[in-house]
Amino acid sequence: MRIHHLNCGTMRPMGGRLVNGGGSLLGFARMVCHCLLIESEQGLVLVDTGLGVADTTTHVEQLERNWLRLARPVLDVAETAAAHVERLGYRTEDVRHIVLTHLDRDHAGGLPDFPQAQVHVHDVEYQAMLDSPERARYLGHQWQHGPQWNIHGSAGGERWFGFEAVRDLPGMPPEILLVPLPGHTRGHTGVAVRQVDGRWLLHAGDAYFFHSEMADRAHCSPGLRLFQNLVQVDGTLRRRNQARLHDLVTAHRDQIEVFCAHDPVELARYQASEYTVDA
Ligand SMILES: [Zn+2]
Repeated sequence: MRIHHLNCGTMRPMGGRLVNGGGSLLGFARMVCHCLLIESEQGLVLVDTGLGVADTTTHVEQLERNWLRLARPVLDVAETAAAHVERLGYRTEDVRHIVLTHLDRDHAGGLPDFPQAQVHVHDVEYQAMLDSPERARYLGHQWQHGPQWNIHGSAGGERWFGFEAVRDLPGMPPEILLVPLPGHTRGHTGVAVRQVDGRWLLHAGDAYFFHSEMADRAHCSPGLRLFQNLVQVDGTLRRRNQARLHDLVTAHRDQIEVFCAHDPVELARYQASEYTVDA
């Protein structure tokens, strides 16, 4: 399996160093939407989709004014997952499966660009989108085209380094697991991918936001600490899962690499050795 690390949506929120932990104090920070494109024997698998073609071109206003003001997305269609897939020499129809950490707009926006893909999401997240007090955070037009949902519950899940994990996503390579990490949203999950060398790569979605949160001495920038508190559904659960994640990574650095969705430092670490896009 070959794994590409993609940025499917740059954001430039206010806050400079208070967000990124470095650079100028004033001015704009930089955040990314870190997605994976996996070349597997079962076809292409996309882990998270970032913002989509409609989000960045014809339907920008549907991302909603408050979010646009806060996140300040660059809205470059060349950063969409569809554009990355084509630059890599594939067609969008070659993407057979999409695995989502959760259904927030900056993770599910690319769904309409891959209408033929099987879309895998945790049952609790899917139900929260249908009916929960916070369902307004989700943008229904991103799945108006009727994706082929594959909803996965935790029943029968196995243990993975002490975490409950959903295995056997139908039709998917067995090396890909859903690892529930709720708190940011009700059904938020990480996505673990076993690499050819046997080591695991864990896409932690929005379970944390700042690379140093996974360092031996965990630390978060003040801007991102505030932001995580503002957008969480359950703070106690989120902090508990973030602490579990930190313990996991600290204890198993030789076996597990973790990254989150929006940290540009982590993305650069992978892109330096692999595939670099015009960012
Ligand atoms: Zn996010």
